[in-house]
Amino acid sequence: MQNISTYDFSGKKALIRVDFNVPLNENFEITDDTRMRAALPTIKKVIEKGGSPIIMSHLGRPKNGPEDKFSLKPLVAHLSELLGGATVKIAPDCIGDEVKAMAGDVQPGEVLILENLRFYKEETKGDEGFAAKLAENGDCWINDAFGTAHRAHASTAVISKFFPNDKMFGFLIESEVESLDKVVKSPKRPLTAIMGGAKVSSKITIIENLLDKVDNLILGGGMTYTFVKANGGNVGNSICEDDYLETAKNIEKLAAEKGVNLVMATDVLAADDFSQDANTQVVNAGNIPEGWEGLDAGPESIAKFKEVLENSGTILWNGPVGVFEIEKFAEGSKAIGDAIVEATKKGAFSLVGGGDSVACVNKFGIASGVSYISTAGGALLEYLEGKTLPGVAAVRGE
Ligand code: AMP
Repeated sequence: MQNISTYDFSGKKALIRVDFNVPLNENFEITDDTRMRAALPTIKKVIEKGGSPIIMSHLGRPKNGPEDKFSLKPLVAHLSELLGGATVKIAPDCIGDEVKAMAGDVQPGEVLILENLRFYKEETKGDEGFAAKLAENGDCWINDAFGTAHRAHASTAVISKFFPNDKMFGFLIESEVESLDKVVKSPKRPLTAIMGGAKVSSKITIIENLLDKVDNLILGGGMTYTFVKANGGNVGNSICEDDYLETAKNIEKLAAEKGVNLVMATDVLAADDFSQDANTQVVNAGNIPEGWEGLDAGPESIAKFKEVLENSGTILWNGPVGVFEIEKFAEGSKAIGDAIVEATKKGAFSLVGGGDSVACVNKFGIASGVSYISTAGGALLEYLEGKTLPGVAAVRGE
């Protein structure tokens, strides 16, 4: 495995797998270019060191071959603009003689975008012959698409075998992996994970995996009530997964066996309606009246969560502890965010990941106060579940 900072790109065509799966409106205008911006450091590095970036990406979900509405053409002018006016061309396809010739003609400092990889079903099937054809377009391969790193696709993993000595991570994937490893592999202790969100069922594999690693596990949000019910409490109308009562008991048992400090809400903010106009009352978590539902953590619970967080060396936050989209029930998640910022100021490493917690952090305007925000979705969750990511393993040669 090579390193992008030290690799000699001069005169080389660098095949870069990026995630340019950006949203487009009906006029094919980019409505959010975050993903393009995220890949810029890698693209710029190749250009700065005398190479030519050959960009590979998917866009949307084309079903049967090429479809105009999934073409990468609308990205060309914007990428050129983001690169300060660099020449950016687009190939009519991602493989084939014409594309190979175009890639061969690209001059140092110029960029060629290959057309949507998913116009070929071989891409998602991880077809080796297709990967070999993609590989013909470059001298080295850079994987900078963490969002698809959990997929063993042709361009994200299989292609690596054609570049045994010329493969590397881009800056984006490198920082994702380094940040995640700071949590999962070498955390500064105590390590605290806050898992929130609606359901136990969608988080169970991560929780089980984290029980082997964390010192403190704060479980909040809707999943609280499955635990409460499992322990004989009354949950009223709160969200509760009756099929997971055993699972909840088992998590508690495992946490005790492994010496993990499991922290859950003892009081909650209950409401008589799922709306900003609801009447609310703070009640004991195990004593929610009929017709009421727990929609946020109560003050005693928030204080407990804060104390644990502010004494942590490393923090992972995945999922809100209440219905943060509604102002009345956002207090708990906001307090978690503030406590993470405080801990980070005192030297803790904090990582926020998973769609809804990122939305929380943005809503509360505290993004700059946390150490790292991962936007990777599926890949992040699989990493936290303890799975090997094919797109990472392929680069490392594992
Ligand atoms: P997830 O995608 O599993 O992380 O779930 C996030 C969602 O969980 C958010 O939309 C929250 O509104 C929701 N949520 C958090 N706490 C509760 C709760 N007590 N009752 C219902 N939904 C909740």
